[in-house]
Amino acid sequence: MASESMKIPQATAKRLPLYYRFLKNLHASGKQRVSSAELSEAVKVDSATIRRDFSYFGALGKKGYGYNVNYLLSFFRKTLDQDELTKVALIGVGNLGTAFLNYNFLKNNNTKIEVAFDVDEGKVGTYISDVPIYHMNDLEKVIQDQQIQVVILTVPAPAAQSIADRIAQGNVKGILNFTPARLSVPPTIRIHHIDLAVELQSLIYFLKHYPAEID
Ligand code: ATP
Repeated sequence: MASESMKIPQATAKRLPLYYRFLKNLHASGKQRVSSAELSEAVKVDSATIRRDFSYFGALGKKGYGYNVNYLLSFFRKTLDQDELTKVALIGVGNLGTAFLNYNFLKNNNTKIEVAFDVDEGKVGTYISDVPIYHMNDLEKVIQDQQIQVVILTVPAPAAQSIADRIAQGNVKGILNFTPARLSVPPTIRIHHIDLAVELQSLIYFLKHYPAEID
């Protein structure tokens, strides 16, 4: 399976979770097939892109029939490793970090925040939504013991790089960086930056300069 998923372009791979979530809901409501037009409307991706994406999965829609929901679901499950739990750690249990611990992603897919870290002695040793909060002194040991694969960073920006350096020493494969700091990591680690303030400003800019068309 790994070799098959290697052939999927990155832009397509990024849309997989979106398709997967929608198809899961369709399946739960008992639907057996779906057209690219229906999918397009639901996930807001144009149908030509959907058809091209799906051709990489070996799913060729038939005219007047659409795509087989079960086939697509089993493909996505394998490709996204949905049958395997990805263990996640969160570093920085402030306002945003606490919200993530309470949310804990389990409703959407097989990812779970197993452990959290902070330097605040008042938070260390407590639990949020059953997730234990450890001191940063124990970072390397706990990450290794728990076989953590992904780290969510919700610390203040100035603390982020030195934490990324520490994480890079171990076997973590990915970092989801919510701090505004642009981090350097070795090529063995994949990093995604999500700067909520920038995203909000960008949305407001587009609203001002490219207002949505009203039908
Ligand atoms: P709060 O109101 O709880 O302080 P916040 O999100 O406004 O939340 P931040 O200053 O952004 O606060 O810090 C987020 C969290 O990161 C806090 O819980 C803080 O204790 C923690 N933190 C700060 N420095 C580090 C560090 N070097 N390593 C790990 N956690 C840290």
